[in-house]
Amino acid sequence: MDTIQKFLAYNGKIRIICGTTTELVEKARTIHNLTPVATAALGRTLTMGAILGTTLKEKEDSITIQIKGNGEIQGITVVVDGNLHIKGYVGNPYVTVPNREDGKLNVGEAVGKEGFLYVIKDLGLKEPYRGMAELVTGEIAEDFANYFYTSEQKSTAVALGVLVDKNGVKASGGYIIQAMPDATEDELFILEQRIKEAQPISSMLSQNWSWEEIIKDITGDKDVVTLETSLFPKYECNCNKERMKKALFAITKEELKDIIQKEGQAELVCHFCNKKHVFHKEELEEILKQQME
Ligand SMILES: [Zn+2]
Repeated sequence: MDTIQKFLAYNGKIRIICGTTTELVEKARTIHNLTPVATAALGRTLTMGAILGTTLKEKEDSITIQIKGNGEIQGITVVVDGNLHIKGYVGNPYVTVPNREDGKLNVGEAVGKEGFLYVIKDLGLKEPYRGMAELVTGEIAEDFANYFYTSEQKSTAVALGVLVDKNGVKASGGYIIQAMPDATEDELFILEQRIKEAQPISSMLSQNWSWEEIIKDITGDKDVVTLETSLFPKYECNCNKERMKKALFAITKEELKDIIQKEGQAELVCHFCNKKHVFHKEELEEILKQQME
């Protein structure tokens, strides 16, 4: 089962949020019929979304992540709310790029190394909070580490991994490790070395390591404190016809008239779950009437 967990290490000087997202990433893969490299790219972003979602205090608050790079995937969007309901899509789910020299999926190539990462937090205030940073490698973990550093002034180690082949997602998960202001230079140096030498996160998860074991291994701290183990992210879309209707109000009267005449109905497909919402002629005429008023 997918979970997000929180730990403290080094006597509370290091904060860790980590989690397993195998099921929700597999659901995203099947909904969007993603290629392996698209699965890895969206899966890593969904994992970060699930991790960030645990920082939301209210159920109706939400975080939107947008990655706009110059690669063939043509952008990634992920939305998470305070219930840890998460959803996402990529511009081109069929993207394929040659693997890296080490045989791994080339996520950086598919996403693109040039572009921006946006984080929009809607916390129910007048204006949402907007943060952004330039992409570094397009591999997503490095891009988020840079985002935390430049946008939130926090030194953060980020690892995100998705193990996938043509049959599906074998393991997916990741962590962020943030140093509190009282962590010493020596402690940070040791931690950095250990993180560099750690196994890839997807391989630890595919060997069924528990998160406590993984965090103890990565930090080298046997006295890790568990803060939270029962947060359960889920792939879920809350789209409905009422919300989709807004898209029809956004198009011009002429275009709407054209659709009524030529098609007789409009079919809107949700980007996040591929559900079709059909608007019949009478409903379209009603929208047109309201637009005229
Ligand atoms: Zn939907």
